Amino acid sequence: MNQLAIHNPATGALITRVPADDAASVAAKAARARTAQPGWQAVPLARRKACISRFRAAVVAQLETLAATMTMETGKPVKMSRNELNGLLGRIDFFLKEVDAQLVTETVLAEGGMTEQIEHTPLGVVANISAWNYPWFVGGNVFIPALLTGNAVLYKPSEFATLTGLAMARLLHEAGVPVDVFIEVIGGGAVGEALLAQKIDGLFFTGSYATGARIAQTLGPRMVKLQLELGGKDPTYVCEDADPKAAAGSLADGAMYNTGQSCCSVERIYVHEKIHDAFVAAFLDTVRGFKVGDPMAEDTYIGAITRAPQLDVLDAQVADAKAKGATLQTGGQRLPGPGNWYAPTVFTGVDHRMALMREESFGPIIGIQKVAGDAEAVQLMNDTRYGLTAGVFTPDEARARGLLAQLKAGSVYWNCCDRVSPRLPWSGHGDSGVGLTLSTYGIQTFTRPRAWHLRAAG
Ligand code: NAD
Repeated sequence: MNQLAIHNPATGALITRVPADDAASVAAKAARARTAQPGWQAVPLARRKACISRFRAAVVAQLETLAATMTMETGKPVKMSRNELNGLLGRIDFFLKEVDAQLVTETVLAEGGMTEQIEHTPLGVVANISAWNYPWFVGGNVFIPALLTGNAVLYKPSEFATLTGLAMARLLHEAGVPVDVFIEVIGGGAVGEALLAQKIDGLFFTGSYATGARIAQTLGPRMVKLQLELGGKDPTYVCEDADPKAAAGSLADGAMYNTGQSCCSVERIYVHEKIHDAFVAAFLDTVRGFKVGDPMAEDTYIGAITRAPQLDVLDAQVADAKAKGATLQTGGQRLPGPGNWYAPTVFTGVDHRMALMREESFGPIIGIQKVAGDAEAVQLMNDTRYGLTAGVFTPDEARARGLLAQLKAGSVYWNCCDRVSPRLPWSGHGDSGVGLTLSTYGIQTFTRPRAWHLRAAG
């Protein structure tokens, strides 16, 4: 059997090896899910909900161990691992509260012997290929509503969050979800490809644009429901009437939280020239206060870079920005190992010729660009192939709404950033993907509407 080696990115040490799938075992798992799905669909919703409630209770009971596992394999600071698990609980509560209403058959016409109804049936067997940066969030956004709505799930955690994925499977099974209804699929890209080759009714992917585009090419002709949550290059504009200190504190956190490895990290900042210098001074103050170090330590803010190859991406963006005339204010290099470490890095004097302002960085590195006013800010913010989130800082709500309405982004923020709500849809424009998770739409997305046209005889 194949083996997957799991390393600690903070130390480089081998944690363990786990059995991994191959093409044959993936096919066998897909067949088991196919056989089991109708039985799960037939289980009353109240019982499916009871399984997810027990799963929630188990997450609460084992939260410290689960946080430590995630920190060990991803390098995420342990406080942030706890935050993620606590945030997951709120999402579970939302799904449990809303799912009943989403599955009720709606009667949209009842007139003169004619009835029209919309029934919501599960898709069937769905595959979920997931990312490592927020494994509980991005996994849970998919497999919890998918299971509640009666689907079987083939769940492939990222190879960089495998132990966390195995823990999810164990807890779901202990909570009563049948072992053939939620099946973990273990391995890297090749195992993901093997999953695409199976007969599936939906593919829900979270990860990079490059992998998402490849998946779309493979599945497009097969008419499989496809949802892709991809990368971003999320901008924020700080207007001249904003409080530079408050904005800087919030945006430094938005840029560097989870070591900058969030899909909705602030990746570009535009600041009105009138407050640019005050903003930069406050931003640097905050960043210099971030403690870099052992992800298991309670006071660590910047942890390890999860994937070693990302260090090369960061180095290349730094070299490119320097070569094109940007001013390095702090950081700008790897930190000594073992493990994968990068200094929190801030550039000013940047522009859009630089990769730093155009390509996803996915690390603790940010460019701050001076702008002359709103029109320039809007033009620059929209100068991207991505469109996940965008924000504006100003005390003036009408101005903020006017600016945000012009931006190509699935989520827009006024005086906040790097925020996800279970009540709101999470989606992207452009190369940030297609489809959505969360909100009541993120429950519907795991169902197929059937249109009933019923004419009473006579
Ligand atoms: P990735 O694309 O490298 O990997 C994602 C998953 O795809 C992994 O499980 C991987 O094993 C699998 N995979 C790789 N090659 C494959 C192939 N050829 N066929 C099938 N599966 C394959 O991405 P990552 O490094 O895990 O995640 C980081 C990216 O995810 C960033 O770009 C980030 O912005 C994005 N992301 C987006 C969201 C969102 O909500 N939009 C959330 C989290 C992360």
